[in-house]
Amino acid sequence: MARQAIVQGDAAGDDEKRRDAALRPRLLREVIGQASVKQRLEILLKAAKKLREPLSHMIFDGPPGLGKTTFATVLPNELGTTIQMTSGPALTNPKDLLPFLTNAAEGSILFIDEIHRMPRVVEEFIYPAMEDFRIDIVLGEGINARTLSMPLKRFTLIGATTRSGMLSGPMRDRFKIHEHLDYYTVEELAQIVTINAAKLKTPIAADAAQEIAQRSRGTPRIANSRLWWTRSYSASEHDGTIDLTTARAALTMAEVDLQGLDKQDRRYLDTLISVFEGGPTGVEALAATMNLASDTLSDEIEPYLLREQMIVRTPRGRMATQKAYLHLGKPYQPKDGESGQGSLFE
Ligand code: ADP
Repeated sequence: MARQAIVQGDAAGDDEKRRDAALRPRLLREVIGQASVKQRLEILLKAAKKLREPLSHMIFDGPPGLGKTTFATVLPNELGTTIQMTSGPALTNPKDLLPFLTNAAEGSILFIDEIHRMPRVVEEFIYPAMEDFRIDIVLGEGINARTLSMPLKRFTLIGATTRSGMLSGPMRDRFKIHEHLDYYTVEELAQIVTINAAKLKTPIAADAAQEIAQRSRGTPRIANSRLWWTRSYSASEHDGTIDLTTARAALTMAEVDLQGLDKQDRRYLDTLISVFEGGPTGVEALAATMNLASDTLSDEIEPYLLREQMIVRTPRGRMATQKAYLHLGKPYQPKDGESGQGSLFE
């Protein structure tokens, strides 16, 4: 298997990105869950190898932390080819894309994260590259301008997006394969936590892995960061191993409640209920009140709350459901005196 050459196109590099890279599965069989996506990718990989053709351009969509980058980085490992990585916001001009396209080897992967945030001019520049493996470069200006058509190697573009609805129609149509990643079950997350604890050489009890999984919002990246925190907590306050009591104490200290909601999730629900009387209200108003970007709300906070049916989206805006009131221990209908009291943590 050829070693994967990764060329970072933008300034990646906070702790979370490093942790993701360290814990990321390298081969398809190491990827947990998403069974039907894996099956289809196995077929495509087999076909690409037999036909000696590059993989079709593909797009992965779904909330952050569900494995879009993981799938994109596993594929070149399986094919023994290379991957170049960049992101939509880093590509402000067609010339930013040029080195990636001209460096792409035959059958290699070009991964563009947050592809929905790529400016239209860059999108238009990439179309002939995707369709005919060539780019058109305009030389000179005015009446002296001429277009140079430059051939490229046959590469595969993999796009990742948290907002497939924001992709333009022409862009969407150029991807032959669309895969949607969904939230993980607690059992799948417990498996991921157990495997990653072993990678981190941290002994973990099965019920502790289950507890972390249960409190990770269906999301592997969150499971990783909660495992990471619990490991630090144990190293500091316990004996470095993770049992159920240590996991519970660590997560409670991090203000992660029994359903896995964190402070920010609860603040969202509290703002919706206390300031906007449960809604309906627009995301912009909520974001302004919480002093957060509206993208953070719609990409990171809301998808899980929607799935858990704590909020609903209506044509007039977001509304809190009875479940949200109960979760925060607030009376659902002010007159009926329902309290729904109870600890969120233990
Ligand atoms: P996304 O690109 O969707 O934001 P990532 O692929 O970066 O998410 O996933 C974040 C981390 O979660 C990865 O580094 C990996 O450790 C873990 N992860 C994601 N999906 C899986 C999976 N299916 N199996 C095992 N680990 C996973």
